[in-house]
Amino acid sequence: MIVMKFGGTSVEDSTAIDRIAGIVKARLAERPLVVVSAMSKVTDGLLAMAAAAGKGDIDKAVELCHRVRERHFTTAGELLHTGLFTEVHARLQTEFESLEHLLRGIAAVGELTPRTSDYVVSFGEQLSSIVVTAAFTARGLPAILLDARKVIITDSQHGKAIPQVEEISGKLQVHAKPLIANGKVPVMGGFIGSTREGITTTIGRGGSDFSAALAGAGLNAERIEIWTDVDGMKTTDPRICPDAHRIKIISFDEAAELAYFGARVLHPATVLPAIEKNIPVLVLNSRNPSNEGTRIVARTQKSRSLFKAIAAKPRITIIEIVAARMLMAHGFLAKVFEIFDRHKCAIDIVSTSEVSISVTVDSNEAIPAITADLEKLAYVKFSGRQAIICLVGESIRERPGVAAQVFDAMKEINVRMISQGASELNMSFVIEESDVPAAIRTLHARFFNDLDPEVFD
Ligand code: ADP
Ligand code: ASP
Ligand code: MG
Repeated sequence: MIVMKFGGTSVEDSTAIDRIAGIVKARLAERPLVVVSAMSKVTDGLLAMAAAAGKGDIDKAVELCHRVRERHFTTAGELLHTGLFTEVHARLQTEFESLEHLLRGIAAVGELTPRTSDYVVSFGEQLSSIVVTAAFTARGLPAILLDARKVIITDSQHGKAIPQVEEISGKLQVHAKPLIANGKVPVMGGFIGSTREGITTTIGRGGSDFSAALAGAGLNAERIEIWTDVDGMKTTDPRICPDAHRIKIISFDEAAELAYFGARVLHPATVLPAIEKNIPVLVLNSRNPSNEGTRIVARTQKSRSLFKAIAAKPRITIIEIVAARMLMAHGFLAKVFEIFDRHKCAIDIVSTSEVSISVTVDSNEAIPAITADLEKLAYVKFSGRQAIICLVGESIRERPGVAAQVFDAMKEINVRMISQGASELNMSFVIEESDVPAAIRTLHARFFNDLDPEVFD
C-alpha cells in the first residue's frame, strides 16, 4: 500500500479536489491511504477566529467562521451531485454548528486555552476530509472517511502534541488496515490527533506531512507521496528565486536539515518515521502530476555539486548573554540552557566567545520571560526580525575553503552569527530578515549555476 498526502493548496477549491481525485484514481491498484490538510489558509482562519473569540469579540469570530463555511459549502456544491450534496450539506452544517457553539463558549469565558484552540483548529482537517471523501465517492472511488483522532494518538502537549508511534501503529492495524484490505480508500485528516482520553490535539503547524509519515510507517507503506504545489524540493524557495532547480534525489539527512531550516515544502519530522523504516518519500506536484518530483532516499550517490539547497528560516530572535567573569565559570552554560528548557524553548544555533553566548530561537511569546530569568545570571540583549540562512549538502565536509567562498559571496550583507552544523551537512548563518531575498539570490547565482544533471533538473 502507499500513502498519498495532499497539502492545503492541493485541496484549496473544487478544481484542486477534482484534480486529486484523478491522481488517486490512477494509483488505485497500489491501495492508497489518503491524508489531507485543511483547505489552504483555513487553519490560519480558524486560529484567527479562536483568537477573536478569546478576546471576547464574538462578532468577528462568527464573521470569520461564516467565510470558512461559505467556502466549504461552495466547494462541496461544485463537486457533488444533488443527492450526495444534501447528505454532505447536513454533515457540514452539524460541524459548523459545533464550531460556532464552541466559539461562543470561548467568547463567553473570555479565555482561549491551548486545549480549546486545538479543538477549534481541528475543524479544518475534519471539514476538508469530509468534502474530499464525498468528492472521491462521487468520482467512483471507494473512499471512506477515517477520523484521524481514532488513530493518531498523542500526548497532551496541545499545539505540538507528540505522536505515540507504537499506539498509532496498533490503531492503524485496527482501523485502517481492514479498510484497505477490503479495497477501500481511507481518507484521513492530517495534523490532528487525540490523547488516549479522546481529547483532540494537533501535532504542530505543517503537521499533515508528519501524519502521512506516521501512517506510512505504521502500515509499512511501500512509498509515501507528499503532494504539494511545486515540482518537488527545489534548490531554494521558488517564491524568492523563480529560477530554483528541482532536486531529483536527496538524502533523508539533507532533506531533514533543509526542512528544519525553513524549507516549508516538507515537515522535518516527516522524515523520521520514514527513515527508520527505509520508506521512500516522494514530493510531487498536484498541478503537474506527471513531473517526477523529488525522491527522498536513505542515502544518495556523491554529487559533484557542492550544495543541494539553500533554505531560510525567518522569525528568529538572537539572544545574547553577556557575563564577563561568570561565563566560563563551571555550571554557567548548564544554568543558561536550563532556563530555555524550563520555558520549553528550542535553541537552533549557539555561538560563544570569551564574554558572551549568543543563541537563536524562533521568535515566540516566551522571550520576555526567558530574558527576565536570564537577567538573574547576566546582562541580556535580544534582537528580533532575524533569519537563519542554511546551505545544505553532503559534500560540504570534504571540500576545503567552502566557508571562504560563502562569505565572500555574502560580503555585502551583515552576518550576525555563523555555525557549521554538527552534522557537517549544513552551514548556517544569521542575517537580518530584510536581507533574506538578496542573500538567497546571491548565493543561488553563485553556487547553483553548474549543476550535476544526475541530481538536478
Ligand atoms: P502544502 O500546503 O502542500 O503542505 P506548503 O505551503 O507547506 O505546501 O509547502 C510548499 C511551499 O514550500 C512551496 O509553495 C514553496 O513556496 C515553499 N518552499 C520553500 N522552500 C522550498 C524548497 N526548497 N523547495 C520547494 N518549495 C519550497
Ligand atoms: N493545516 C495545517 C497547517 O496549516 C497542517 C498542514 O497543512 O500540514 O499547519
Ligand atoms: Mg506543508
